[in-house]
Amino acid sequence: MKTVDGRQVLAELDTQIKICLLCKLNETRKHAVPGEGSSTAEIMFVGEAPGEQEDLQGRPFVGAAGRFLNELLADIGLRRADVYITNIVKCRPPGNRDPFQEEIESCNDYLLAQIATITPRVVCTLGRFAMGLLINDKLKISGVHGRAFQKSGILYVPMYHPAAALHNEALRSEVVDDFRSLARILRSETVDG
Ligand code: URA
Repeated sequence: MKTVDGRQVLAELDTQIKICLLCKLNETRKHAVPGEGSSTAEIMFVGEAPGEQEDLQGRPFVGAAGRFLNELLADIGLRRADVYITNIVKCRPPGNRDPFQEEIESCNDYLLAQIATITPRVVCTLGRFAMGLLINDKLKISGVHGRAFQKSGILYVPMYHPAAALHNEALRSEVVDDFRSLARILRSETVDG
């Protein structure tokens, strides 16, 4: 049971992110998307960057990929309010292009501060960009998805991005299986990898 509640720290980070001018994405965003969920979450989900709906609403994973993420969470008995959801890049890249390295680097301190505040037991990376940043940029997601990697006392579990699985039945069932493994990892104390 955690004793320190980081709500205040997360709120201050949200304020900084909403007025951030560190990279050019501030020129095209409608809303920055800091992240949302429990400040004492045992598990964090880290995606790539906001899309169109997220940019309009200022909330992470509220479009089609977000609806799939909600289903995946519900399947393992979790609600969005139980977890913390964010992205490596907090503002939408125009046209949903891949984030540039300098955008990822500009945003990195915000993500590290969120992780340090929440101190989750498990961080689930969604897609190759979050995996490359938080676990290892040499890994191939097809070879390691669903496995746990321990780093500095946190278990990192890379997953395919829900958007990639939306229109691909085979990938979709792999993601469902990976979420079920994630539920087992959350229930256990053991580390694999
Ligand atoms: N894709 C992401 O990576 N993040 C979001 O918030 C939405 C879609």
